[in-house]
Amino acid sequence: MSRIEEIISQEKDKLYIHEYAFMKSNTVIFSDEVRMLCNKNVCGMYGTSWACPPAVGSVEECKNRCNDFENAFMFTSLAKLKKKYDVAEWRETRLLHESITEKVARIFRDEFKESLTLSTEGCNLCEKCTYPEKPCRFPNRMFPATESFGIMVIQQAPLCNIKYNNGTNAITYFSMIFF
Ligand code: SF4
Repeated sequence: MSRIEEIISQEKDKLYIHEYAFMKSNTVIFSDEVRMLCNKNVCGMYGTSWACPPAVGSVEECKNRCNDFENAFMFTSLAKLKKKYDVAEWRETRLLHESITEKVARIFRDEFKESLTLSTEGCNLCEKCTYPEKPCRFPNRMFPATESFGIMVIQQAPLCNIKYNNGTNAITYFSMIFF
């Protein structure tokens, strides 16, 4: 077991990681299909920050950036919902996942000279993003969405033995780190 695998296996519960997998970057599936949803602005985040298209570049460029790293790590956190359709609860659980991702990203940054972290839905760290006038204020805390990079989590997760769906009253959040 490599040092990073050892650290993650020891810290998993403390970090509230639900499931995780290590893989080679060149096995990760990229697709223009997911990006098409971004381009249609389905989530309303298109062109609003440095973490979303068009700022992140084309899917091909994103794929190349990821493949500059040999390895990849995927993990999930699980949120059990009290109510089925409560936007405030969704937001709260997403922010919780972002804070888990930040802690995990820090572990990788401590171990590797360079790494690239992707998380869920885009960035809303700042009240008003600097995009496109000025550079990002927190490049170390800004995690583009896996979807914005063209990664099909729904396809990738089963290949890594990670559950995409954990039941009707749960949201499964995904993050990935390339290192
Ligand atoms: S950290 Fe702030 S400046 Fe950077 S992408 Fe996010 S919202 Fe924009």
